[in-house]
Amino acid sequence: MDQGYYRSIRKNFFLSMILVPVIPFILSLTIGYSYFINALETNTIASMKRIVADHRQMIESFLRERTDDLMFILHEYRYQELSRSEVLEKVFRNLQSRSPAFVDLGVFDQNGSHVAYQGPYSLKWKVYRDEDWFKQVLAEGSYVSDIFLGYRQVPHFIIALTKTENGRKWVLRATIDTHMFSELVEKVRIGKTGEAYLLNAQGELQTRQRAGRGLMEKPPDTIEYPDAAGEILTYIGTDLIGEDFLYATTWLKKKEWLLVIRQEKADAFGALRAAAYRIILISLLGGAAIIGVAFYMTGRIITRMKQMDTEKENLGHQLILAQRLAELGEMAAGFAHEINNPLQIIRSEQTLIEMNLDDLKQSGDLKPSEGLAEVEDSMAQIKLQIERCSGITQAILKFGRQGEPRLQEIDLREFIPQVTAMVAKKASVHGIAVTQEISAATPPVYGDPGQLQQVLLNLFNNAMDAISAQHGASGGRLCIQAGPDGDNQIEIAVSDNGCGISSENLKKIFSPFFTTKPVGKGTGLGLSVCFGIIDKLGGEMTVDSKRGEGTTFTVRLPGAA
Ligand code: ADP
Repeated sequence: MDQGYYRSIRKNFFLSMILVPVIPFILSLTIGYSYFINALETNTIASMKRIVADHRQMIESFLRERTDDLMFILHEYRYQELSRSEVLEKVFRNLQSRSPAFVDLGVFDQNGSHVAYQGPYSLKWKVYRDEDWFKQVLAEGSYVSDIFLGYRQVPHFIIALTKTENGRKWVLRATIDTHMFSELVEKVRIGKTGEAYLLNAQGELQTRQRAGRGLMEKPPDTIEYPDAAGEILTYIGTDLIGEDFLYATTWLKKKEWLLVIRQEKADAFGALRAAAYRIILISLLGGAAIIGVAFYMTGRIITRMKQMDTEKENLGHQLILAQRLAELGEMAAGFAHEINNPLQIIRSEQTLIEMNLDDLKQSGDLKPSEGLAEVEDSMAQIKLQIERCSGITQAILKFGRQGEPRLQEIDLREFIPQVTAMVAKKASVHGIAVTQEISAATPPVYGDPGQLQQVLLNLFNNAMDAISAQHGASGGRLCIQAGPDGDNQIEIAVSDNGCGISSENLKKIFSPFFTTKPVGKGTGLGLSVCFGIIDKLGGEMTVDSKRGEGTTFTVRLPGAA
């Protein structure tokens, strides 16, 4: 296969191995991320709203409690009584002991004259008739002011109530400590940058801002106002230096004050950003793991594919060779059969000549002479060679016989020498000394003679190849031993002093198609076929070898008895 083929498979495989897990991975991550971020956002905004609602309630109850305190005084005392400074002082002490937020207390007549005053400033007899707050309290009955400077030139706010006695109105007014009130609002701490402050209808600060802006200043924030009282509005706004803030606003005091809580967006959604970073990190790690595994697996699979393709190709070659060998075998069997017929004719002709010669000798037509003796010798030689040829053709026919194995008792004492004789010529050509040590006590085995012959011939031929490789044309030794091996077992050992087998190759020796011989010489099928034959007969085949010294193949077979 060409490299381009593998490259395109590698590319497709790699891409599918990445895309198949990456698409669901990214989808689930994106869906999970958006749900998670949404939940976190909703949660952050909800907790901001909760803080605003709690503070609104706290501020409102602070103002209500202070107003109720004054209301109580208004019910308990008459104008005449409270106008007396000793009574007012007692009432004020009482009030302060209940709430230290009260700075002073004053009583005003209908014309706005400060008829009695208890507190740190000297405001008695000042006239407030034209002050806005005085007009409003007369008109509405009760009044809580914004923070203002007033005569005392100190930021403060007041709570004033009015009462009608004998058709005349009088006013009770208390000043609230702005510090204490501010603290109530300013103590809000949310995250690192969260703060709360109050604005009046003109957008002036009623409590200090963290950034250092003081009371009655106008912060530059973009403020959005909720429509209805009680509603809480949240939005993202940008301040002067371009920092984004998460704002929550709500109305207080009949929409006269606005409670603002704000926190830097990065701080408010800090958890969100941390989660996003983690998710990005997980995605990167997950992606890298997927790519790594895909890369590794693709590499392995392609290598395996290449191996398998090479094996397949080799197998194809081996099969062609095996097929060629099988055909050659068939042809050899055919030739043997064809040669056998003329051989039989030559044998009968030779027998006829012999008989004629005997007749002529007996009738005295042929006198014994040197020439006659030579003719008789030649006749004997022809007979011998005919027997040899016949033996060879018989052996080829037996070897090439196909079909079901024909099992029979085989006497190894005769069988082994016959097979050995078949390779005797080859052995002598290669200078190999063949020795046979066959015990007379060797019991017969039960098997197919053709198959057993195949096994022994294969072992002999392999041994002779190994000997030639090691010694060339002289010095080779091939030894065939056979004998009983305990408990009705027969052992046949074929030893040579050939090149031997490396321990690496020894593990693969019985595998089909394993060969070290050049293409066209070996098929690598011999030993695996032999192994199968012996195994079928209930025996076993083992090998023992040392590189450079020699090899012994041992076949153990059950006895026929
Ligand atoms: P082939 O003879 O066609 O190679 P075999 O299965 O008969 O196939 O043998 C496989 C391999 O085993 C041979 O190629 C050779 O390397 C090794 N081998 C077999 N017998 C011997 C031996 N007696 N000495 C050394 N190597 C041997």
